[in-house]
Amino acid sequence: MFAFKLIIAILAGFLIMRTGMRLLGGFSSPMAEPPPPGELRKVKIMYRCELCGSEVRMTIAPNEDPSPPRHCMDEMTLVAPVED
Ligand SMILES: [Zn+2]
Repeated sequence: MFAFKLIIAILAGFLIMRTGMRLLGGFSSPMAEPPPPGELRKVKIMYRCELCGSEVRMTIAPNEDPSPPRHCMDEMTLVAPVED
């Protein structure tokens, strides 16, 4: 009888999880899993949004020449590698 209850519990849990995932999926598109921390590079790169003037600093990236982030629906411009 215990095994039967366990199966019911697992099925219920699966259904609840699937419903939750579906609800979340409506808000955000699935993101790619980030690589393990050992594969990430410490970088110091400044980017500027030419449209609104915002600047951001990238500190960690999957490689030393990452693709620029997007802002105001456009790719940000690389300002300069930051030295400090
Ligand atoms: Zn912007």
